[in-house]
Order: sequence, then C-alpha cells, then structure tokens
Amino acid sequence: MKTLFENITVITMDDNIGVVNNGFVSTDGKLINYVGTSRPSGNFDRVIDGENKVLMPGLINAHTHTAMTLLRGYADDMNLQDWLYNKIFPFEDKMTPEDVRRGSGIAIDEMLSGGTTCFSDMYFFQAETGRAAVKKGIRAVLSDCVNFDGYDRKVKLMEEMAEEFKGCDLISFTFSPHAIYTCSFELLEKCAEYAKRHNMPIHTHLAETRTEFSDCEIEHNMTPTEYMESAGLFENPTIAAHCVAMTDNDLEILKKYNVSVAHNPISNLKLASGVAPVPKMLDMGINVAIGTDGASSNNSLDMFEEIKAAALIHKGTSLDPTAVPAETALKMATVNGAKALGFDNLGIIKSGYLADLIVVDFDVPHLKPMHNPVSSIVYSAKCTDVEYTMVNGKIVYER
Ligand SMILES: [Zn+2]
Repeated sequence: MKTLFENITVITMDDNIGVVNNGFVSTDGKLINYVGTSRPSGNFDRVIDGENKVLMPGLINAHTHTAMTLLRGYADDMNLQDWLYNKIFPFEDKMTPEDVRRGSGIAIDEMLSGGTTCFSDMYFFQAETGRAAVKKGIRAVLSDCVNFDGYDRKVKLMEEMAEEFKGCDLISFTFSPHAIYTCSFELLEKCAEYAKRHNMPIHTHLAETRTEFSDCEIEHNMTPTEYMESAGLFENPTIAAHCVAMTDNDLEILKKYNVSVAHNPISNLKLASGVAPVPKMLDMGINVAIGTDGASSNNSLDMFEEIKAAALIHKGTSLDPTAVPAETALKMATVNGAKALGFDNLGIIKSGYLADLIVVDFDVPHLKPMHNPVSSIVYSAKCTDVEYTMVNGKIVYER
C-alpha cells in the first residue's frame, strides 16, 4: 500500500526539519519513504489532500491499562489506596478473558479515533488485548502484570504470548512487576533477572504517592526508587510510571540507569497523588514520556488532554510559564514515548521511519487561525479533530 499526503502542514518532530508547510509525505508498506516540499514521483494507492490539515506522528501512550475502560466512572474521587484495594482489585478479581477482550476493544477504538497509534499496556489476560490490537491494527507493547504470588503463571503467559505473536509487527513486550507494594523484594529480584535473561524492558509503577514513599521508608529505610534499584530492576531498560514522590537522589538514580518516566498528569491529579517533578527530570536529561494510565483514574484515554495537562500543570506549580513548553510536551507524547518503549524508528516523520501518522483537521473554529501548528495541537486541538489514523502504513481509522 502506497499513500501520499499532499499539500499538508507537517509537524515532523524531527529537530533538523521542524514544521514543513505545503509538504508532501509518502508511505510505502509500513514505512515513510518521502518527506519534502515537492510531489514525489510514482503512483499511489491513495492520495489524501492536506488543505487545512496537519500531519504529525501518531501519539504514543506510554502507560495504560486498556481493559480498565470497563471501570470508567466506577469509582471516582478516592485516593489511590482506597480506590485500588476497596474498589478496583475486587472488581478485577471477577474479570474474565472475555471482559478484557471487550474492555481492550473499547480502549483501542477510543485511542485510534483520538490519534493514539501505540500504547504500552500493563494488565492481565494480555493475549486478549494483543488479539484486539492486531484485529484493529494498533501498535501495542504488552505485559501480563506480575503481583503478589503470580510469577510462575505470568512467566508462562508471557511465553505463550511471545509464541502466539511471533513475527507480528504490531506486538512487542515488556515485563511488569506491578509495584513495590504488591510485589515482595524477592519477586522484584526475580522479575529483574527474568527481564535480563530474556532481554525485555521493565514496565512498572514507581513512587506514585506519598503513602508509597513513606511506607517504603518505614519498612525498608529506603525510598521506592532506591528499593527498586537495589532489586536490580533498573539494570534493564525501564519505563517507570508516575515517579511523583521523588528525592533529588532518586532522580539521579533514574538518570544513572537511563530509566524512562511515563508521566500521567491527569491520573495523578484525579487520585490526588501529586505532581511529578517533570521540569527537573527534563533539565537532568531524563527521558519523560506521557501516559493516560487506565480509564478508571483519568477517565479517558485522550492523549490530547494529557499533553495539554502536561504542558500546563508544571507552569501552575512552578509559577514559571516556560516550564514544559508546547514543543516539549508534544515530544513527550511522540519521540520520547518511542524511545521509552525501545523503538529507534518511531515518533518522527522521517524517511525510513515507521508510518504511524495522524491527520488533524484544522478546518474547525477552535483551531483558527494557525499561527503555530505545535501550539495549536498542544493547547487547542481535541481528540475529535483527528481525521485519519495510520499505523504501520495502513489507515485504520478515518472520520
Ligand atoms: Zn498505572
């Protein structure tokens, strides 16, 4: 399949190229094969006219629990511990593979129609999520989450999934110990060793709340970050979700091991967990991506909302309007997300990169005029403005 986007404003997210006005981008198979200002030669299966439209990399949701769409609106206005132990875990205990298939399907429809082309999931019955992802054509990074005493069972499930999705372009894996409060130290160590043996990244929750932080200090005389470091988790490439309760030394540890952070500003606000020190992380050169977390603590999987929240919240807490500028927020949801998930050819519109692209319709009142397309995307666009979503060179959603 060859597709041409013509006469379109292109936000490349490539530092060298930036924004291309009246641009042309073509794809061949799963890759982008041309970005420029003149029409590339050749025939195309489909040509999309770019008048009043913006083409940009698909959004990457670096931390979610897709099947939690089933719990959207089920338990609101609670703190993390009450929400998790009194409402979420008891509900999840009753969920079946069929439930996860349906919940993931709803999430994937929501994500594709809102411009998300890749997500990193952490849940259970993940083979169902993988099947839904392949069926609907979204890129997914899956992990059947390990907690309490589930290690052997989860290893078996991960191995079955690796077999089932072998050779599938859209599916890759991480290994996920849920958090320090649901995994023993020995279990964290086992997870670290397994990930190392199988060359898999780690995806985990880290330092989400003050409670997690102070409980860890009382029980182990360490911060959650120090505790995870001592279990050897960070010796693997790691995506750490939240990282709200962090000391300066904790940030140094993340930097030392090149841990990527998945920042989930809306979930952290809704559960009253706090605000992650993202400007400090960025100043230190830590890779910060963006996630929505599950739809039960957000309550949507809208990455446009999340990007805007990430750009605004740190201005509010620091009283510095330059904290997390628009372009940085957009990088977090594209380039940085790709890096966090281990891709070296995703998140930028560039020849040779994977064709995960979205077209945003600017012919709507709230996007007029367009002084700066990056500003418009971050501060004014809505997920419903997405007109086309392409994953792996295939248009999988069009409005
Ligand atoms: Zn989470």
